[in-house]
Amino acid sequence: MASNDKKYVYAFEEGDGKDKKLLGGKGANLCEMTQIGLNVPPGFVISTEACLTYLDDPKRQLPPGVMEHVRANVQALEQKTGKAFGGADNPLLVSVRSGSAMSMPGMMDTILNLGLNADTLKGLIERTGNERFGYDAYRRFIQLFGKVALGVADEHFDEHFEAVKQRAGVKADIGLSADDLKEVSESFLQVVQEQTGHPFPADPYAQLEIAIKAVFNSWSGKRAVDYRREFHITPEMANGTAVNVVTMVFGNMGNDCATGVGFTRDPGTGENVMFGEYLVNAQGEDVVAGIRTPKPVLAMKAEMPELYSQLVELRNKLESHYQEVQDFEYTIENGVLYCLQTRNGKMNAAAMVRSSVEMAHEGLIGREQALLRIQPEILEQLLHPRLDPQHKVSSIAQGLPASPGAASGKAVFDADRAELIGRAGQKVILVREETKPEDIHGFFASQGILTSRGGKTSHAAVVARGMGKPCVAGAEGIAVNVKARMAAIGECVINEGDTITIDGTSGNVYLGEIPTVDSEFSDNLKTLLGWADEAARLKVMANADTPDAAEKARGFGAVGIGLCRTERMFNAVERLPVVVDMILADTLEERRGALDRLLPMQRSDFKGIFKAMSPFPVTVRLLDPPMHEFLPTEHQLMDELEHLRKLQVNMQGMSELVASMRLLRPESGQTGMPAPFDVFNAELAAEAIAKKEKMLAKVRNLFEVNPMLGHRGVRLGITFPEIYRMQIQGILEAAAECSRDGIEAHPEIMVPQVISPAELAIIKGLVDDVQTQVEKHYGVELQFKFGTMMETVRATLRAERIAGIAEFFSFGTNDLSQATFSFSREDAENKFLPQYIERGILRDNPFEALDHNGVGKLMAIAVGDGRQARPELKVGICGEHGGHPRSIHFCHRVGLNYVSCSGPRVPVARLAAAQAKLREEDPSVFD
Ligand code: ADP
Ligand code: MG
Ligand code: MG
Repeated sequence: MASNDKKYVYAFEEGDGKDKKLLGGKGANLCEMTQIGLNVPPGFVISTEACLTYLDDPKRQLPPGVMEHVRANVQALEQKTGKAFGGADNPLLVSVRSGSAMSMPGMMDTILNLGLNADTLKGLIERTGNERFGYDAYRRFIQLFGKVALGVADEHFDEHFEAVKQRAGVKADIGLSADDLKEVSESFLQVVQEQTGHPFPADPYAQLEIAIKAVFNSWSGKRAVDYRREFHITPEMANGTAVNVVTMVFGNMGNDCATGVGFTRDPGTGENVMFGEYLVNAQGEDVVAGIRTPKPVLAMKAEMPELYSQLVELRNKLESHYQEVQDFEYTIENGVLYCLQTRNGKMNAAAMVRSSVEMAHEGLIGREQALLRIQPEILEQLLHPRLDPQHKVSSIAQGLPASPGAASGKAVFDADRAELIGRAGQKVILVREETKPEDIHGFFASQGILTSRGGKTSHAAVVARGMGKPCVAGAEGIAVNVKARMAAIGECVINEGDTITIDGTSGNVYLGEIPTVDSEFSDNLKTLLGWADEAARLKVMANADTPDAAEKARGFGAVGIGLCRTERMFNAVERLPVVVDMILADTLEERRGALDRLLPMQRSDFKGIFKAMSPFPVTVRLLDPPMHEFLPTEHQLMDELEHLRKLQVNMQGMSELVASMRLLRPESGQTGMPAPFDVFNAELAAEAIAKKEKMLAKVRNLFEVNPMLGHRGVRLGITFPEIYRMQIQGILEAAAECSRDGIEAHPEIMVPQVISPAELAIIKGLVDDVQTQVEKHYGVELQFKFGTMMETVRATLRAERIAGIAEFFSFGTNDLSQATFSFSREDAENKFLPQYIERGILRDNPFEALDHNGVGKLMAIAVGDGRQARPELKVGICGEHGGHPRSIHFCHRVGLNYVSCSGPRVPVARLAAAQAKLREEDPSVFD
């Protein structure tokens, strides 16, 4: 053995099952399962460190010592199994499998039956007395090795395979005889020679070394790189792939053999039942590849009762050991069950929620674990729409319900085109016979996936579930013809571009688009989020602008409104003209006139919202956007004016025409042509023109170079105090009316864009004034708070003085992030930000994930200084970050009282708030 002390290779008996970064997820679990006594075929792991060292080496040689360690480990396998690697008598065959710290389904292919060559094949056939089995294993190996390690495309092999099948007159592989398969193997060897210019490598150690390098190389291959980019897998999460070398066991040696995959619970629903599929007399990836449609695991109970009970036992052991739902792979060789892989099961949100609640009830895990094992983001899936149960459309085909949810879109028959059309903004359903890893980009672009072959554990199903997209798999009634770009279901034809609907919950496929409805909160979700609320310190409020939205937000569990934007109320059709009058007003008198008309509208808005949220607080932000946002653009107005002027000329022309006709035919007198336009109409037209002209002048007058940094927010309140006064009056009168009606209301008046305590003092003056009037008029004592947005840099730095006046702060992190970075969001996201993230200058888009180091620092200063002045200061966040789990962790740590986010994000935020509390001591949250 080389004098190299770096350890790169670990036998399953010695590897640390917790060290997924070093051994990869698959390798670590193979070690762990071996060590807890599960029946795993003997094997060893070559570490991810070896991979990274190898990839760093420009000569692409395995690090020194690796092959020596591999040889020593293979010899250990020989001892354990009594077989010999390359032995002609009783040959040892192995699989070579990739596996990084994060599971990446279908990203890197496994090579099976490595070690076969002309000699060992003979030995294998003699040993098993099964020639057909021998050649079947051989041809699989040549193709897999040829494809994965030598880069020979499948189609070169498939061509020969199909030819032999056709000659033999069989449809399925299983119908081929030993001689047929022998012929296939020979032509496959020929294919490799032709395609690579070299004979197929016969020496097993040479095969092994090539395979190990191929696995390492696949880490930097396009497929893997794309996947990591799409799913934001950073080097901290997974760096390099390990290689697992595992003694082969055979599921294809006869009818007491099988191969299968299972989940310890149903990944579609979370129900605590045996779940999975298997194939008798099959090897390797036959189950997942969708070549034959497998049987549900329950069929094994009747077919192989002894093995079924072994399988139940395996499942129970796995779940109680890992305390997590497992997704496992197994093979049965001559009646002996081997476990080949386990990992945490990827399940949809509903299944995660149900299994969390049930595992906690079963005592398998505690409530904390029940909360921590769910990624908050996935809860949004539950709020996604499903098919309207009232629909009367009958399905045209039925497949397996492989990933729940419903989706409609244009049928597209290949991944490239799906990507093209999807990128163009159209909704697409990817329709394939079966999918392969190379179709992954088509998944990203599609609303859902439909396949005509394969089971619930096929590639399509697994990947779709991982992405939370609906999938119907194995709809065997559909004949997909990619070349003709159509699919036929009996008489019915789907052409590319036709709209179809799939329901991944039922497995139904429909022609046309079927409406969807929102789904409801399940009892399990209520239970889980109830536990979350008990655990969390942060409260979760919602951003909502209407009574309807407030109602919905309550349904999602919001305990108040953290941001009610008043400008949205101004935009309603019947209000906008009044708002425009207010803006166009030349005098204070005129403006007051418009405001007097707006006041009752605002009052009833607020009343409705307070009522819907009672008894929780409602934070109302005073008018924020610049005035010109309520007016049409200059361009639009000029177009309209031109049009109106033309109309006016036409009207005049018509009137003149009628008048001269009358002169020509005076006898027609009364009965003749009526006057087309009376004076009144002409006046109206003139008036419209005048008004538009005035608007245009106003728009030009209001023009700002940088409206977002211009005359908006509290600056409006300072220069047009009557506007803010009207809003304050609306809020306080609504509160007074509520209290008169016995409804508990807690308004919080919030001032936007504040930079200085002096601004706030002026607005507070208005509030005090209005309060006195309203209390006197209604004879009630008002309960409300007065506070400010924290969205300018200066405000965060003046927080102590500002807190002297404000009773609460609410971080507006959208504006605060723009101000801190000096980025305008639209320009940043459209132009340079993607490159900044790609090149690691910034880790995240600061408009999606709160920037802890910069914006967060300002927040920490503001919270600290603010509470100096007012220890009971209430602090929250109402920017979009308020619904982003990692940002919520930060908000928890910086000492906020609440987060506020859009309604459907509320469940996400409730869970994230609980996790923030449960993991407050865990520094790795922000790694
Ligand atoms: P993936 O990461 O795509 O799941 P695996 O390495 O698990 O790839 O291999 C895929 C399949 O190959 C396994 O599910 C199993 O059926 C088969 N396989 C892998 N190693 C062996 C082995 N040593 N003996 C028998 N079958 C194997
Ligand atoms: Mg695979
Ligand atoms: Mg696997």
